[in-house]
Amino acid sequence: MARKGKRIPHAAAQDDRRADSTCGPDCACWTSARNAEQACGADGSANDCVGKVVYMDNNATTRVADEVIAEMLPYLGELYGNPSSMHTFGGQVGHKIARAREQVADLLGCRPDEVLFTSCGTESDNTAIKGALATLPERRKVVTTRVEHPAVLTTCRDLERHGYTVSEIAVDRLGRLDVDELGFRIDDNTAIVSVMYANNETGVIFPIDRIAEIVKARGIIFHTDAVQAVGKIPLNLNESNIDLLSLAGHKLHAPKGVGVLYVRKGTRIAPFLHGGHQESGRRGGTENVPGIIALGRACELARQYMEDENTRVKALRDRLEAKILASCPDCMVNGDRENRLPNTLNVSFEYIEGEAILLLLNKYGICASSGSACTSGSLEPSHVLRAMGVPFTAAHGSIRFSLSRYSTQEEVDYVAEKMPQIVNRLRELSPFVAASRKAGAGAAGK
Ligand code: PLP
Repeated sequence: MARKGKRIPHAAAQDDRRADSTCGPDCACWTSARNAEQACGADGSANDCVGKVVYMDNNATTRVADEVIAEMLPYLGELYGNPSSMHTFGGQVGHKIARAREQVADLLGCRPDEVLFTSCGTESDNTAIKGALATLPERRKVVTTRVEHPAVLTTCRDLERHGYTVSEIAVDRLGRLDVDELGFRIDDNTAIVSVMYANNETGVIFPIDRIAEIVKARGIIFHTDAVQAVGKIPLNLNESNIDLLSLAGHKLHAPKGVGVLYVRKGTRIAPFLHGGHQESGRRGGTENVPGIIALGRACELARQYMEDENTRVKALRDRLEAKILASCPDCMVNGDRENRLPNTLNVSFEYIEGEAILLLLNKYGICASSGSACTSGSLEPSHVLRAMGVPFTAAHGSIRFSLSRYSTQEEVDYVAEKMPQIVNRLRELSPFVAASRKAGAGAAGK
């Protein structure tokens, strides 16, 4: 099924890398995937091995914590006042928002008045970059990296259409950033540098404190997209030179539809949404009250679970990695294994397509993500893996497993048991395997 012109469609586990995809049920991808499913004995029925979903797609979104739901429910029901109202009924909601702001600030190590609530990570990224540029009209350059999330990269593409220059720093084979190159790219025309804290596909963590220091020394605004880092690794903004930082509630067990832009006191940004006086005039629009209250509680829980994330969850991720590497020939881990988010594992399985693996995982009730996106009927390997120079045959077959505090050893072992079965079955159908074996390639367990 990895044959040219025979492509596998998007599986159930969608992620926002595919926001601009044109793929749909009429696409050639989908037809051949149905063939692939049949060939692999998967009939598309509900998973037949477990009675529940094994969710390993937490970098796409997370389950809302029960404690978080309990906290927000009253604000979807009886406590519906507008936090801007003069009366006590609305005022009590305003107090609760103030409390949520403190809870977020406690997790980030900043002041509550530096927390600006938004609707999502994408809005935070857009506000940071475009809001900062608007205050510095004489500067026309943005420096970023090749591996940012589309929330930053497509914003930069839009800026280019408006006459800005965008300079993108490369990464090496392990997805690490060349910090020296960053220094060379900055010049007097640079208004803002935007570098993600941790990569959503590989989990690779960038040396943000060092980068922020370099940027700050040049008097330039520094923004970091920390959507994947917040809640997983400790941050202390008081001790850093970061000016602007984005986060999204749904990545840390709060609901979708709420995010934060941290704005260091004294950093000037123009509002992205003009309107009322909400968020001290920095973002108009009546607040997403239940979402904000939920995010506050989620931040409090993230502080409690930080150690678990970096010990138990990390150990589970390492267990999954070791088992897959031991049981699946011709696979490799993508990204710097020494410096990754504790929950993330990105593996490439040579000669087969990630989308096909996802389909079969889905049959077993396992949710993960692949690194490729279908555009106009053909699969494009992820821009992150391409920037890292991952070979084409491996980039196509990449799968991201991302765990959470709810992941268990039983789930990890279940996935590890299914993976070799799926990989072997798909390889039997792959013409690339036969060709590479003929050519003497195909060494086991890279
Ligand atoms: N930045 C990164 C690194 C992400 O992983 C994501 C979402 O996956 C975003 C930004 C966008 O966040 P949201 O979906 O909340 O807009």
